[in-house]
Parts: sequence; structure tokens; C-alpha cells
Amino acid sequence: MKHINNNSDRKFIKDILDKSLDLHVLNLTEVSALIDLDDREVWEEVYDAANRVKEKVYGKRVVLFAPLYLSNECMNDCLYCGFRTGNKNARRKSLTINEAVQEAEFLSGKGYRRLLLVASEHTKRTGVEYFEKVADAIYSNTDIRILHANTAPMSVRNFKKLKASGIGVYQCFQETYHIPSYRYLHPAGTKADYASRLGVMDRAIEAGFEDVGMGVLLGLYDWRWEVGALIAHSRRLINKYGFGPHTLSVPRLQPAEGSEVDFDTFRVSDEDLKKIVAIYRLALPYVGVVISTRERADLRDALLSIGASQISAGSRTSPWGYIEKGDTEQFEVGDSRSLEEVISKLADLGMIPSLCTACYREGRSGEQFRTLAQNEKMKKFCNENALLSLKEYIEDNCSDDEKENLEKLLKDEISKSSNGLIEKMKLVAQGKRDIHT
Ligand code: SF4
Repeated sequence: MKHINNNSDRKFIKDILDKSLDLHVLNLTEVSALIDLDDREVWEEVYDAANRVKEKVYGKRVVLFAPLYLSNECMNDCLYCGFRTGNKNARRKSLTINEAVQEAEFLSGKGYRRLLLVASEHTKRTGVEYFEKVADAIYSNTDIRILHANTAPMSVRNFKKLKASGIGVYQCFQETYHIPSYRYLHPAGTKADYASRLGVMDRAIEAGFEDVGMGVLLGLYDWRWEVGALIAHSRRLINKYGFGPHTLSVPRLQPAEGSEVDFDTFRVSDEDLKKIVAIYRLALPYVGVVISTRERADLRDALLSIGASQISAGSRTSPWGYIEKGDTEQFEVGDSRSLEEVISKLADLGMIPSLCTACYREGRSGEQFRTLAQNEKMKKFCNENALLSLKEYIEDNCSDDEKENLEKLLKDEISKSSNGLIEKMKLVAQGKRDIHT
């Protein structure tokens, strides 16, 4: 770890931050310099730069979503996961199509418009045909506007079917890039094949997914090595396809029923997690950095000020978890606040809670998304779209206690926007829905 004690090192870090503030992707030498940095004072400058980069690309918006767990029946045996075959005490369930619709309906009633479908790997229960049926039923019967999917790697042929079913982002984590650790932690099932998992994003992109979500499970191996490897992987995708990951997630290893891993060997501290979020933001300025409810509320709020841009809220991590308590969970949740509580807190922090799905409605993805963000056009119309989605939430889902607080936020923001926005707000108040630019 490097303590900055000479002017040339300090200048190098400053040049890196300036490059990132100009919204350029960092190279691996620059990423390594940040990973290696061990100087509290300089880290404060890094956090400040990460926040400025985020504001440049995303403004004050924070995107909200919820996971919908479809199944915990799994054929793999990942030693850290409550769903693994080796967890003989697990209570297993795969939702029927009707149950998936009921869970989605419950969530849309709370105000969510974007859900992440999550399923463990089971060829008979959760193959692509199951996802096709679930997506069709949810889109046809609920107000959910976009579904993303976190599920097992597929062939290009099946990814094409998944994409055609209306899935926006395909998400899959490498878990660890460190091959010996990967082999030890994934002793059985198709997931034991490291190379196959490493190629999953290429297959998804070849099948037409321009928005892919990547990540490592922090705590399985040394985070410094994992972060460098994930950024190297992302850069390879950018060089090959012209765009990189749409999102990077930062899940930290959590206790889980039946887990067999030692949590201390590669533990990622809160301070380390802050560094990781800032490094992802600076290395890949356009990426959405996603924080799940694994983390505590206070830490999640803090991460939003140093580069994170998307959070899940009110999550349950077991199938049938929203309507009933559900069966075995994948991991323990650290932030149990409801969507309304999270929205209220974001407003207090001066951020704009967004339930917007406009990019998927308008087909803005991959390279197109990046070009718009580069011109900083995105920030303006995304802010307006976020405010329109918030207005819908206030009209349809918000409790009376919170309305005043959120209406005040809207009023302040509308006063800074164009007249066109006021007209669109009136349409939402009159009952028109899904209005966006
Ligand atoms: S991490 Fe995924 S593949 Fe591994 S046991 Fe859990 S659900 Fe199954």
C-alpha cells in the first residue's frame, strides 16, 4: 500500500482524477495506483472526485428497484450460498407463474416499476422457457415496466430468447476471478467451469444484450486483486464491443444458512467498500454502481455520496418472500427499510429518487447510452424523467405522511426545469402514466 510522500506521486493521482472528471475510462496502471493508495487525506480527494463524476453523469438521481426471487432450487454447490445443494436444511421453492405475478403485483402496488428477477440454477425449474413465461405474465398483468434478470449463464441461442422476452439487463457475477479460489468455492454443478462463466458476457452480448451487469462477491479473495480483474474484464468488453458493463454491483459476503466459508480471511471492511465504490465510479465513469440491501442503511446512504447510483429497497431474498415470509434466503439483509422509507431518506439527503424506466421504453442502451451521457444531455432529461416517475409515485403509492415532503422536493426541482416539465406534471396529475422523454 502506498503512502503519498512526494510531489510526483501526488501529481499522478491528480492527473487520474482529472482524466476521470473528463469522463474517460481509466487504464489498469491508473486503477492500480488507486487500489494501492493508502493516504487518508488523498482518499478524501478521491471520494470528492468520484462524487463529482457521478453528478456529471447522473445528476442527483438515485435509481430504485427490488429483486424478485423466483427460485432457490439449485444444482450448484457454491460454498458461500444458502441455496447450494449442500445446504440440506434449506426449504426449497420455485414460484409458479401465477405466484411470480402475485409477487410482482405486490411490488408494483408499492410503487416499483423495475424489478430484478433472480433465480438459482436448475435446468428443469428455471431454464429460459420459465423466464419467458414469467416475463410475459408479469408484463401482461402488472404495472411493472422493465424486468432485469440475474440467472445462470446460457448459450447464445437461449440468451436470444431471454432478450426477446423483454429482459432489459442481464446480470451475472463472476464471484471471484482468482482461479484457485473459484475452484475451491464451486466444487460441483455447471458453475464449477470457470472458463464458461468467464465467457458469459460475451455470449449475452453476442445474443443482443447491450446492457449487462457484472460484479464479484467481495470477501471471497483479496478485493484489490478482484477489483483490478473486474475492471480489466470490463475494459476487454469495451475494446471488443464498444461498450462495457451497464452496471457493476458490490455485494459483500454475508452470513448464509449452510455457508461453509470463513468470513474473516478476506473480509472487506466498510472503508474498503467505500474505496471500491469510488474506484469503480472513477475507472468506468458511465457505469451504474449498484448497492444491495446486504449493506446497512447508514453505509448505503454514505456510498451514494461517493459514486453509487442505484439501490435496491425493501428487498426479500427468498422466493415468495414479499407475500409471505418465504423460504430459505440467499443471504441476510442489512437494510430492512421499506421503499417509502428509502425514498424519504433520499429526499432528505438532497437526492432525487427515481423509479424511471424511460431508457428501456425508448431502447436507449449500450453505446447509445454512453454517447448521450458523454454529451451530458442525459443528465437533463434523466432528471426530468426521474421527477415524472416521482410524481407518479406520489399520486399512486405514497402515504399521506410523506406526500408533503416529496411535493416540496418536486416543487424545488421543477422551478429549475423547463416549462415543458410543468405541462407533463399536469398530465400525470390528471392520471396519464409512463410519461417520459
Ligand atoms: S450462488 Fe447461485 S449457483 Fe451458487 S448455490 Fe447459490 S444460487 Fe446456486
